[in-house]
Amino acid sequence: MYHCAVIGNPIAHSKSPEIHQEFAKKHNIPLSYTRILAEKENFKEIVHDFFAKNGTGLNITLPFKEQAYLMAEKTTIWAQTAQAANTLWFANGKIHADNTDGRGLCHALQHIHNFPLKNKNILILGAGGAARGIIQPLLECAVKNIHIINRTHTRAQTLAQAYDTRVCAIDNIQQSYDLILNATSIGANAQTFNLDPKALQENTFCYDLFYGKNTPFLTWAEAHNICHKADGYSMLESQAWLSFQIWFKKIL
Ligand code: NAP
Repeated sequence: MYHCAVIGNPIAHSKSPEIHQEFAKKHNIPLSYTRILAEKENFKEIVHDFFAKNGTGLNITLPFKEQAYLMAEKTTIWAQTAQAANTLWFANGKIHADNTDGRGLCHALQHIHNFPLKNKNILILGAGGAARGIIQPLLECAVKNIHIINRTHTRAQTLAQAYDTRVCAIDNIQQSYDLILNATSIGANAQTFNLDPKALQENTFCYDLFYGKNTPFLTWAEAHNICHKADGYSMLESQAWLSFQIWFKKIL
């Protein structure tokens, strides 16, 4: 029996166990996948203990993604650009870390929602951890440009500076976009959402990284007659599948 888990705080709401059990069932892999509630003070100890007991892989969720990245001894380019990790595993005596969120998002957009990213104008709302994790994978899909708008403008500026000229921070909306990604935590807190509708054109795809019915962002999009919209469940499933492949690549 393989053992995997997701660590976070809170953690009871996490859908990762069900998603990974589905993958395991489909591929005939005997898997126990649990939720672990951690505190900032015992996070590191829980991770070390998990791998000391031969655990196969960990998913990391809020608020531990940065801590997970910092404690890893080997990191992928995607974890490095995100400065955060959502997937840990143990190999050759070392803790390894990846961040599959951004590639998961790109996979979901292109292969679940049939929205090719090549040459697209993209607006990202937010400049926190999730925004940081998705920019590099979006650039690798040959998008045309990425504008970032954030409540705290300086955070958007700092984030944009780390990339090439295709990425820039804006402080007001001057044009419409092919794709708008809500990477703010509005949604998690059930706040109302507002954005200059100038950002919309008839066929703009509005995607909320947060998942759940009628998020404030998707309600706003609907009120502006946008029919091409989705919540972040497809991203959650896709990032989970990438983690699963990392842990079980030898037997898949
Ligand atoms: P974070 O690091 O805490 O960043 C939060 C962002 O939201 C910041 O840019 C913040 O702006 C902005 N914000 C918060 N409250 C706001 C408000 N009232 N008005 C305007 N902006 C506000 O969080 P995160 O880790 O980036 O996560 C963001 C979202 O992505 C969450 O909903 C999370 O569930 C989702 N997510 C989904 C997946 C998935 O698999 N579907 C994966 C990762 C994350 P300031 O900089 O001004 O504070």
